[in-house]
Amino acid sequence: MQPRFCEMLLAEVENFEKWVHETKFKIMRPSTMNKYGVVLDDFGMKTILEKLMESKVFFPEVGGSNLDSHHGFVLEYGIDRDADLGFHVDDSEVSSNVGMGKQFSGGELFFRGVRCDKHVNTETQPEEIFDYSHVPGRAVLHRGRHRHGARATTSGNRINLLLWCRSSVFRESRKYQKDFSSWCAECQRKKKERQRQSVAAIKMDLLRREGQTAT
Ligand SMILES: [Zn+2]
Repeated sequence: MQPRFCEMLLAEVENFEKWVHETKFKIMRPSTMNKYGVVLDDFGMKTILEKLMESKVFFPEVGGSNLDSHHGFVLEYGIDRDADLGFHVDDSEVSSNVGMGKQFSGGELFFRGVRCDKHVNTETQPEEIFDYSHVPGRAVLHRGRHRHGARATTSGNRINLLLWCRSSVFRESRKYQKDFSSWCAECQRKKKERQRQSVAAIKMDLLRREGQTAT
């Protein structure tokens, strides 16, 4: 996103917050985890967010090619705002997270592997550890089921634009499946382990038969 767009959006969010404060208007906060931040559809951003969601090229294995609804919002972090965001998965198939600039330190994103519902609390493998520092105006796209969190913003204020994209088709089909090895790293490990065991069993059986013919 261009610096000019980031500035304009931030100004709009500030105006909206001011209006909310002055009129004591009750607004929906973006999620139960945040006390600060606003839902973008609430002030006329619905069309632009739908356009953003149309780039249906990433993550087809989790419904990325048939996204059909969104939840877009900005989150504010800082000393007088929410400090950090705990380890979680998003209620989305594909998430986009854009750092909107401003002066800040801290606030890095940390990722710890993609998981299905059943495996969401399983151990992180060393190769799954990935940390990322926001670059202003640049979006990070990730699967909603990619476990992640944000470290505390240690100075200044940080604003992020988030877009959660969902696929009703994917959500429906997920209800009837048990194996998610195409995207859940733990399902994949379990599947490989089953395959390894069955290969080992076949080998054992062959050896046993060879032994029998020899005698
Ligand atoms: Zn799984």
